[in-house]
Amino acid sequence: MSLFQKTALAGLALIATTPALAGYAKGPIDLTVKVTAPQQHVFYITEKIPVTPGKLTLYYPKYIPGEHGPTGPIDNMAGLVFNAGGKTLAWSRDPVDMYTFRLDIPKGADSLTIHFDFLSPVGGGAFTAGVSMTPRIVDLEWNQVALYPAGLPTKDIDFRPRITLPSGWQYGTALVTQSTNGDTYAFAPVTFNNLVDSPLIAGEYFRKVDLAPGDSVHRYLDMVADYPGALAIGPAYTQDYRNLIAQADRLFASHHYKNYHFLLTLSDHTGHFGLEHHQSSDDRINADLFLDKQTMLGEASLLPHEYTHSWNGKFRRPAKLWQPDFQKPEHTRMLWVYEGLTNYWGEVLAARSGLWSASQYRAMMAFYAAEMDHHPGREWRPLIDTAVAAQLLYGSPAFYKNWRRGTDFYDEGALIWLGVDTKIRELTHNKRSLDDFAKKFFGMDNGSYVTKTYTFDDIVKALDTVAPYDWSGYLSKRLDRTNNHAPLGGIERGGWKLVYSSTPNPYEKARETLHDYSDAMFSIGLTVGLKGGINDVLWNGPAFKAGMAPGMKIVSVNGSDFNPDLLKRAIANSSEPGHGHLTVVASGSGVTRTYVIDYSGGLRYPHLKRIQGTQDYLDDIAAPVGSSN
Ligand SMILES: [Zn+2]
Repeated sequence: MSLFQKTALAGLALIATTPALAGYAKGPIDLTVKVTAPQQHVFYITEKIPVTPGKLTLYYPKYIPGEHGPTGPIDNMAGLVFNAGGKTLAWSRDPVDMYTFRLDIPKGADSLTIHFDFLSPVGGGAFTAGVSMTPRIVDLEWNQVALYPAGLPTKDIDFRPRITLPSGWQYGTALVTQSTNGDTYAFAPVTFNNLVDSPLIAGEYFRKVDLAPGDSVHRYLDMVADYPGALAIGPAYTQDYRNLIAQADRLFASHHYKNYHFLLTLSDHTGHFGLEHHQSSDDRINADLFLDKQTMLGEASLLPHEYTHSWNGKFRRPAKLWQPDFQKPEHTRMLWVYEGLTNYWGEVLAARSGLWSASQYRAMMAFYAAEMDHHPGREWRPLIDTAVAAQLLYGSPAFYKNWRRGTDFYDEGALIWLGVDTKIRELTHNKRSLDDFAKKFFGMDNGSYVTKTYTFDDIVKALDTVAPYDWSGYLSKRLDRTNNHAPLGGIERGGWKLVYSSTPNPYEKARETLHDYSDAMFSIGLTVGLKGGINDVLWNGPAFKAGMAPGMKIVSVNGSDFNPDLLKRAIANSSEPGHGHLTVVASGSGVTRTYVIDYSGGLRYPHLKRIQGTQDYLDDIAAPVGSSN
């Protein structure tokens, strides 16, 4: 453990008393992970824990930071064997908490050796519990490959991690490499908190790009891919990501890491998502991110989002989202800040860094504003309940999502924060903005990555010092009450209005291309896959009223066999005189029927239209901040 970490961790000494620790001798735990044949999707784990004789309780991490729920993938654990004092020990699992193991350490034993295999998914699974290995890539989140002793805060348990990789592979991680022996790499000791916070990516094809050349604080883009061509980032995107580092420095006037590593997996075979950490982010995305402009348009905010989390979510965290170990439940009510504000700034930083143009930024905003405005679930479910129930919603089925509501605290949260930003600008005649809040709320303890927690009242107080206002009432109205419409006031105060026209929205089009579907949600009220399978239907929308449902398959439209272009032409023609409806044949659950959709609105795609004579705050927000600020 480095001096820096010891000093940093002193600040988290919130645990008053430590329970008796029969069994665990409080020494460093040796953890060795081997990957010998990644195409077989197995991590081989050996763990050595110093022990004393007596009862020992071990945990497998359950609540995974950033995943906001009990998502530790314990069902992928196999081949578990405990040895101590020359014997194989009997063990039992807690009958209620599946993540708790109990065993007796025999007399005379001072070390417990654990072997188990982590069967890394070959398909399915959400986030880090999804596919994390290909024959040429390994993405490792250490919470999946370690047990830890009960009774101590995880910041007080030290690990000595090491990994063996296939011959010749390279890797990226925020861990500090201490020694190398062939293909085995030993890392400097870290607390279990920091180990879980420090994933590693490795691959046959690896590339490292310095995003802050010449700076004493290093920021790296570490990349792995299934083929070398995917790593061809090019000078323009490299500059955009360097701009991202500079723009975030100006926004937050601080950083909360020693060095930072974007750990970017470019693959069509792993899961696609981002998971934030203090000093790195585990970012997994399509292989053609740097090769196809549509992919970049659809995914440009991924790295800015995860980077923002180093400040918002990791360094500053809602009080009840911080817990002393990985077994205590997290309260997710404040995710509209943790994720909503991160979404807002991730998108703003994507525009300020040049990954999006100002018009692409507005196209993205128009799409999400329209999508949130087409979630009638807001009539029964206030936004705050999507945050409170986040651990249900991340994994909830996608059908009728607009009626059940999903994790809307991301996109609607961003709209609420746009509202706050434009309100501050309006109140102060554009002299102050949410950037001032960013500096105030995150710009302290430079270099420290000791989490500082906050409450709703702390947010209100900080906003009030930037621009005095009834922020509590403002936020509560949008969070705690049901509303018939999405909070579009921020867009309108920003000088723009949400409108619909027959001209496609380029961001929406990029999403259609990326996710192989056709979006008619804002016209006839459905989204459909390229082969006719209906993904979702708008509750009480035209298709719903005609009797259609998610899961059906469209066979024909107005008498012709389905294809996405034909459907779009039929929707476009609906506004012609004498039309006014679409005749759709669809099958579902063994029944094929004709449905008549009463609709005459033509194609409808969302856009932002300038409100003449008003201040254009939206373009101010998206513009890069100069070095003088
Ligand atoms: Zn996030």
